[in-house]
Amino acid sequence: MEVQQRRMYTKFIGRGAAAILLCISVSACGTNKQEAVSTGVNEQAQIKQSIQQPEKPRGEDNTRKSPPPPPAPASKEKDKTVSIDGNGKAIVTNASSITVLVNKKRNLPADYEPNDLVVPNVAFSFAGNSPKKQLRRPAARALEKLFAQAKKDNIDIKAVSGYRSYSTQKTIFNRNTKTKGKEVANRTSAYPGQSEHQTGLAMDVSSASVSYGLEQKFGDTKEGKWLAKNAPAFGFIIRYPKGKEAITGYSYEPWHIRYVGKDLAQAVAERSVTLEEYFGEAVPVKGKQK
Ligand SMILES: [Zn+2]
Repeated sequence: MEVQQRRMYTKFIGRGAAAILLCISVSACGTNKQEAVSTGVNEQAQIKQSIQQPEKPRGEDNTRKSPPPPPAPASKEKDKTVSIDGNGKAIVTNASSITVLVNKKRNLPADYEPNDLVVPNVAFSFAGNSPKKQLRRPAARALEKLFAQAKKDNIDIKAVSGYRSYSTQKTIFNRNTKTKGKEVANRTSAYPGQSEHQTGLAMDVSSASVSYGLEQKFGDTKEGKWLAKNAPAFGFIIRYPKGKEAITGYSYEPWHIRYVGKDLAQAVAERSVTLEEYFGEAVPVKGKQK
């Protein structure tokens, strides 16, 4: 298990029982050597330090003890980005932020529709017009740059599916529930309001080598490997990495890239963490967008 992940767990353990449950559900949790049981303020101080000074090489301050920080403010960060609706559902309050965190616990408002959707000038796996060709403008411009770099590197990728409205997602989810059952539908497709595609910041990408399919074997192709390596420099992350299913709630999806802006994408990639784990540590200072 990654160091960052362990840190998140230890931090969360200090915060509440829900996190302990999460920890227990991940089998590797109990097998860690030195850090598995470490808790307390020094750990938190280290985390804080590493966030505030991300440019510093890791381990440089290992010998210096930092003063214990004040107790964590009872998850006030969370309060700012979600509100609980009448049905007890957490709805994000920053739907139009490029760093918005959407997952099975954090819903987009059903009526959220980005107001800056455009069709990026990239190759698509299908012809004709479709709303799913769209992305929000900053993501579209970044995708064009990513695809231009791919072309330079002789990597043949195409865009498969981008923006998806709440109602389209609802249709897809209901269809999957009918054909595959609710459990499978929930693991392989997002519940309406919980799809990143509704943000207009996610694009599914594939290659001829897998017949433009959205399949895990795309991750083993040279195109899939190129994408994982190069996406962060253009502001995208592989949102659902392999081995992080218990944290993201979704199976490995090497084809699904999410625009979060360059700073955050690179920070997430450097730490080999998911967006969930990253936000468990800190709310990024940069990356605030219109
Ligand atoms: Zn996707």
